Amino acid sequence: MGVISKIRTVSRIAKANPKGWQSFVWNTGMAQMGRVGPLMAPVHIAIEPTNACNAKCPVCETGKNEMDRRKGMLDKQAYETFVDQTAKHTNSLLYYFMGEPFLNKHAYDMIRYTRAKGIYVETCTNGDFVDPVGVIYSDINKISFQLGGMTEETHSRYRVASSLKKAHENLYALIEERRKHPESNVQIEVGFIVMRHNEHEVPEFLKWAEEIGVDVANVVDPCVRNMLEGYAYLPRDKKYWYYDEQAFDQGTLRPKMIPENECVWIWNSMQINWNGDAVPCCRDPNGHHVLGNVFEDGVLRTFNSRRSRDFRRRILTDQGNIDICRLCSSYGMPDLSKEKPPSFSVQRHTMNPEIASTIEEAAERAVG
Ligand code: SF4
Repeated sequence: MGVISKIRTVSRIAKANPKGWQSFVWNTGMAQMGRVGPLMAPVHIAIEPTNACNAKCPVCETGKNEMDRRKGMLDKQAYETFVDQTAKHTNSLLYYFMGEPFLNKHAYDMIRYTRAKGIYVETCTNGDFVDPVGVIYSDINKISFQLGGMTEETHSRYRVASSLKKAHENLYALIEERRKHPESNVQIEVGFIVMRHNEHEVPEFLKWAEEIGVDVANVVDPCVRNMLEGYAYLPRDKKYWYYDEQAFDQGTLRPKMIPENECVWIWNSMQINWNGDAVPCCRDPNGHHVLGNVFEDGVLRTFNSRRSRDFRRRILTDQGNIDICRLCSSYGMPDLSKEKPPSFSVQRHTMNPEIASTIEEAAERAVG
């Protein structure tokens, strides 16, 4: 892009005035100039409510119980202090990483706190522990129920210890709850994790999603970590593949598109584990590249720490040798157009004590 086009792009963004545009322009400019810092606060945050989960999915470090990190829950007070620090610049936050978000009993209050600061919030869930009134109360912008099949049998081939029946009940109850609160910001998505054992169910899934009245139906390409998982789970129909088919036939797992010493995403985004450790992005579930800790050092110091700058320098010079980048095509730039003013239609919500104790018991089991 030439200088004139860059100036035009910046003035267009400034005119639209989305939250965090100054950070976005500065940090993206730094990435394009090959500068690793100083950066302004990130416009996108992804944070882990917990790395514990009930579902035992076989293509997940948490599900396989093979995670190198200790299991735990995001602390509500530490989280709110963190949000206070970053709210001025942060446009969107993904309240999800390596566990089931709604096993954290403070999930709805934490999301509501974030929404009150004018940040767009979304999450993904297996659906088993969703409290529909809590979702409306939280004013979350988007919730995605990610299912493993259309029958209990196909669902549990991947979501091994999850209940499709329970996820459906919670989904239907949420659709009904939102109907009662049309002013709610909540957008409801159903995702279908397409794999070898369920790919024949995709047409049925799309038909069902349309009938039940969700806002978005998403067929989710599967993500595997190695060739063995690829043989076991990747669909036969290659249109669902994120991976290079020829390379796969020759015994190598790699994405169709491989970035060449660039990833503007990590100049604009921060990925945070439940204990406050920042890692480059969601491709580091084990926390092998910890860049600092936001609860101890704050957002700006962590985003500009020596380790963060060193990691970005490696991206610019030696990305092919970074383990986590080998299965990634990079994520482009965060979308700044998502802002929506808070709309708290439910003023106070106390979770049904029966649901609350079920969640607490499941959380205790999952944390171990
Ligand atoms: S794994 Fe992907 S998103 Fe993460 S730093 Fe590498 S290219 Fe960027």
